[in-house]
Amino acid sequence: MYSELKSTLRRAAQKAYAQGMFAGTSGNLSCCDRNLGVMAITPSSLSYEDMCDGDIVIMDLEGNKLEGERRPSSEYNMHAEVYRLCQDVCAVVHTHSPYATALAAANKDLPVILIEMVPYFGGGIGCAPFALPGSRELGSTAVPYLRESNACLLSNHGVLTVGDSLQRACERAVYVEDAAKIYCIAQQAGGAKTIDEYNVEQMKRIFG
Ligand code: 13P
Ligand code: ZN
Repeated sequence: MYSELKSTLRRAAQKAYAQGMFAGTSGNLSCCDRNLGVMAITPSSLSYEDMCDGDIVIMDLEGNKLEGERRPSSEYNMHAEVYRLCQDVCAVVHTHSPYATALAAANKDLPVILIEMVPYFGGGIGCAPFALPGSRELGSTAVPYLRESNACLLSNHGVLTVGDSLQRACERAVYVEDAAKIYCIAQQAGGAKTIDEYNVEQMKRIFG
């Protein structure tokens, strides 16, 4: 019944894995069918390379399992909480990509240091306060940041991105990592320089 949703998610998960977004079985992805009120979510602790459509779990937005043999991601509460609080979000991507997670480990925000951050995030990316893995709070503490920029760092944990499609949410996860990597290298190369607010506003107009 949910074959399209499962297949879309499995393909996106494997593509993101190939792009270096996850080490081992870390991270998780979901997409939501708003009409049916369900989300498809990756299974817990299963290698991305071996994942097939049948491994994807279908849950309602209260976190009840509707279909699937596997255990859902241990972060299903975070995903469900984001969908409940942000009605326009249809995809949630959580990575432990290394440079962005290094900033999260340092509890640092990622300032707006690249022009591409303006169209993708509208500016810099904040680091949400610490919340326990597996908790609803991991989602709810992130929501104000997601509303700002469709992305945030999760303190001492990783990255969270959202979108109205899986493609958009996955693209944002890639660009968070790219910007974090360049930021870390720029810091070594004498210090990254933040784009000033005037120019950010100008670019917002240019990018629409
Ligand atoms: P799962 O394998 O249960 O999805 O957990 C990975 C993770 O990133 C936990 O935060
Ligand atoms: Zn995680």
